[in-house]
Amino acid sequence: MSFSKAEKIIEQLKNNGYDAYIVGGVVRDLLLKKKLGDIDIATSALPEDVQRIFEKTIPVGIEHGTVIVRMDGESYEVTTFRKEGEYEDYRHPSEVEFHDSIELDLSRRDFTINAMALRQDETVFDPFGGQLDLEKKLIRAVGNPHERFREDPLRMMRALRFLSALGFRLESETYTALKMNAVLLDKISVERIRDEFEKLLAGAHCEEALQFIKEANLDRYLPNGPYKFEVNPAFSKWEKLTSDEERWAGFLLRLGISEPFDWLHAWKPSNQKRKQVSHLVELYRNDPDFKNPMTLYRNGLDRLKSVMRLQQFFGYQVSTTPQEMNAIFVQLPIQERSELAIDGNDLQALVNQPPGPWIEELLENIECRVVSGTLKNDPGEIKEWITQCNQAQENG
Ligand code: ATP
Ligand code: MG
Repeated sequence: MSFSKAEKIIEQLKNNGYDAYIVGGVVRDLLLKKKLGDIDIATSALPEDVQRIFEKTIPVGIEHGTVIVRMDGESYEVTTFRKEGEYEDYRHPSEVEFHDSIELDLSRRDFTINAMALRQDETVFDPFGGQLDLEKKLIRAVGNPHERFREDPLRMMRALRFLSALGFRLESETYTALKMNAVLLDKISVERIRDEFEKLLAGAHCEEALQFIKEANLDRYLPNGPYKFEVNPAFSKWEKLTSDEERWAGFLLRLGISEPFDWLHAWKPSNQKRKQVSHLVELYRNDPDFKNPMTLYRNGLDRLKSVMRLQQFFGYQVSTTPQEMNAIFVQLPIQERSELAIDGNDLQALVNQPPGPWIEELLENIECRVVSGTLKNDPGEIKEWITQCNQAQENG
């Protein structure tokens, strides 16, 4: 993403007689001197105009006015200035109306800090006082907060995720409206709530956001809510956690959830994420020995490093370092089953028995011995060991 490529797109739109600006989150982050995310462009050109003007476009959301423009190998979302009709089902506006006013486009955006546009001369068009709110560190709805939250209750979750990301406070009317309209979160799909909640967990001020959720009794309206948890500044080391999976695990451990896999169902994460999070929670609770070869082999470095970070999150002194753990891991005789000198077919050929669960059991036994160093990872030695076992069984 680069401003100069985005400027090229704007230049081209202007040359064709349209108005265009860089808008939304990136303007906010630029003014805050934060790391910049995606660059979004708003324009008076209609989607079909955008498709005509640029060589490479991808129609991602034509009905909402969005076309992706590919510029020198990068993607930029170009969205026609729009106004939304009534939100009939709390999910989608019943209609989207295109127009040619940047001010009207900014007025449909959620918060003042997200409702600014960057002009080509780098001055900021800021009709709702976003810059002042940035200075005052306030999240303030554009227009009447009650109406805005009723139009799209997801904005309440968005308010909290910006609170978490930026460490801002809610402006008082926005705060009151949020508390009064929290029940409307029931109307929003779990997936949309989850996506915002994951961003909330990733914020530098996550603990404050969770505190706010508790204070405002918002957790009643979140999946599986209300939650039993104490907000605790001693647990404020969310920045130690580096992935969604770790943050979910941290959150579930804080809540003391005994069946993480079942609990997560209501949040509708992918099955893979659900499994990974519950593994992490269970492994953390087992207080693994990071230097034990079998623990390293079974879980792999990545998962154990995640558990280490969870220990740091909870304020524990971690008994070893990732470097020490790496050193032990690279010296393991094998790091995964495919490196074993023998496989299930070999076992069947060696042992005169119909196939069954014994194959997996025997493989695990061999694996365990090889990893712990009591059996060499050599086909001859493994076969010999199996033969000895067989004889012992026959004799016994
Ligand atoms: P981030 O940097 O985390 O992506 P962002 O501000 O860019 O933050 P997006 O979700 O990417 O957030 O949305 C882009 C812009 O679209 C916002 O800045 C805001 O102006 C507008 N927007 C997004 N969702 C809504 C909504 N539900 N209601 C009103 N405006 C919205
Ligand atoms: Mg964005």
